[in-house]
Amino acid sequence: MGKRVSTRGIKKHRHYTYEDAACILGLSVQTVRAWKGEGLKVLDQGRPHYILGEALIEFVAKRQQKRTITLAADQFYCFKCRAPKKPFGMMVDYVPINQIRGRLEALCETCERPCQKFSAEASLAALSEVFAIDRRSGSQA
Ligand SMILES: [Zn+2]
Repeated sequence: MGKRVSTRGIKKHRHYTYEDAACILGLSVQTVRAWKGEGLKVLDQGRPHYILGEALIEFVAKRQQKRTITLAADQFYCFKCRAPKKPFGMMVDYVPINQIRGRLEALCETCERPCQKFSAEASLAALSEVFAIDRRSGSQA
């Protein structure tokens, strides 16, 4: 995944060619063309193709939203559901990796697939108010 893109230079009611858009966004023309396949609305009846500024701004915003998923303290990211989820039954296992860090393992509340995230040992006390944490001995690697 690339860098964050600013659409500040894009005007809602203007039309842009792939080249214009790429230039303003600081991306390659190929990248902007590829967005058409990812759902960017393009006016492709004539030549050249035009992108409405408004559609472009919306598309980029949505894309970046997808990338920056922030998890609440009581959530795990489930790769199956592709969304932040709470643990099934609020039950979590803590597997220490070393003295200060470990892995929290849980099952997704929706699909019951395993999901995990890293956590500091020091934050376990606070987390145990939210989760029922089962501490496993873990393999010291
Ligand atoms: Zn899930």
